[in-house]
Amino acid sequence: MKDLLIMKFGGTSVGSAERMRVAANLAAQEGKKRPVAVVVSAMSKITDLLLDTMRHAEAGDRAGITTNLAALRQRHEEACRGLLPEGGQAAVLPRIHELIGEFERIVNGMAMLNERPPRSVDEAVAIGERLSALLVSEYLNSAGTPAAAVNAWSVVVTDAVFGNASPLMAPTREKARAVLMPLLEQGKIPIVTGFNGATADGRPTTLGRGGSDFSASILAAALDAAELWIWTDVDGIMSADPRLVPDAQVLDEVTYVEAAELAYNGAKVLHPRTLAPLAEKKIPVWSKNSFAPEKPGTKIVPQIAGGGSGARAVTSMKNVALVSLEPGSPELNGVQVMARSLDAVARADVEILVVSSSSYRQNFCFLVRTEELARTLQALESALALELAHGYLSPIQVDSNVGLLAAVGEGMQGKPGLAGRIFTAISRVHVNIIAIAQGASELTIAVVVRRDGLEKAVQAVHAECGLGQRPPVPVFPFTGKDSGVPKPKRRQVP
Ligand code: ASP
Ligand code: MG
Repeated sequence: MKDLLIMKFGGTSVGSAERMRVAANLAAQEGKKRPVAVVVSAMSKITDLLLDTMRHAEAGDRAGITTNLAALRQRHEEACRGLLPEGGQAAVLPRIHELIGEFERIVNGMAMLNERPPRSVDEAVAIGERLSALLVSEYLNSAGTPAAAVNAWSVVVTDAVFGNASPLMAPTREKARAVLMPLLEQGKIPIVTGFNGATADGRPTTLGRGGSDFSASILAAALDAAELWIWTDVDGIMSADPRLVPDAQVLDEVTYVEAAELAYNGAKVLHPRTLAPLAEKKIPVWSKNSFAPEKPGTKIVPQIAGGGSGARAVTSMKNVALVSLEPGSPELNGVQVMARSLDAVARADVEILVVSSSSYRQNFCFLVRTEELARTLQALESALALELAHGYLSPIQVDSNVGLLAAVGEGMQGKPGLAGRIFTAISRVHVNIIAIAQGASELTIAVVVRRDGLEKAVQAVHAECGLGQRPPVPVFPFTGKDSGVPKPKRRQVP
């Protein structure tokens, strides 16, 4: 279909009746000009609430379940009342209760078994997205724009990795066309649930937390969309986290690989897997703010003419831990230790953020997310049990008091001196570097520092790479001591 636009709205962009109305109107407005399909997240915090309810169920905590179900009902009933006229409410409230009833039945099963089977979790957690798809589509219909809620269970075909599934593009393409094209041809806006899918034999899956971005890009690729707009609550992709770096800038453009790399290294604006399905057809993506839709946002494209010089952005991550392995005996083959460790960690489905080793005979370390640390250690201890027991390996060391800084940019490739400047900038603010890594693609320079130095280091690197605003030029003329005009404060320019 020519000129198809996919719009994805994140949790805060559909977080209340008011936000849903704004989101739906943005879609309706574009829908007057071209075919539009929408992907929605659950209302903000709802996925957490659903997952928490299932943890209560596993623990047999009935009171916890009841409280959460009441909150779930209240949030969606309130949204429904805020969105629809009375007649519409009477028709849609029972459907909300039906979906919540579906969730409740799964949760009761979990409470009975004291268990939370991953495939049931996936089936139950998708209720959040199904509720918001229902509300947004009903609002659009009531406002005169034909729309239809679609459960991505019937569209996105995935493997069977429950909780973190990957799409199978060929069957997804077929299903997406079969289910969504007829709606689009009838002039309807499909409102598709983000985050979920199903295996080829119909078992419900989800794509990982924050996976609605990924859902949207999967659909964009499957339907050969012309563009994908991802609506969030920030102005676009920024040169750094503005809470750490006050003069961080919204970037006009970034490339696919830069955006993915920024996401992997902690920038929260996009799900890291989002861009992969789009690469083949080179579909451009816009990251836009539904709270300020007039702002241009950031355009994510396959390539940027000229490529840029140096880093495009600096990201950081706090909740990380550095795991180190050190041979205790020269007889141990260090390469084998690395291979077996990485294999064990991969099997535990842990994502490694940085790997570094200056020599395979010595220390080998890697960085993981704190929430994946316990799993990592368990996997290593079991894979390397013999070596650890007999002292061929020193006890595994964990340093949790660290943070990751990453300078990212395709323009860093082949530019001598950048690493030197980045390290010098970090040393100037007296922050010690614990580990460093740069791959041969030269896309990212990753630096592990003490947690309490992370903010200073990010600010220093951001400034060194020229990513912030220029320091303001003082406008006060020199006026002498008694002029009554306050003297401009000195500003340290590094
Ligand atoms: N609702 C899901 C989550 O919170 C998916 C998403 O928002 O993208 O993880
Ligand atoms: Mg979300």
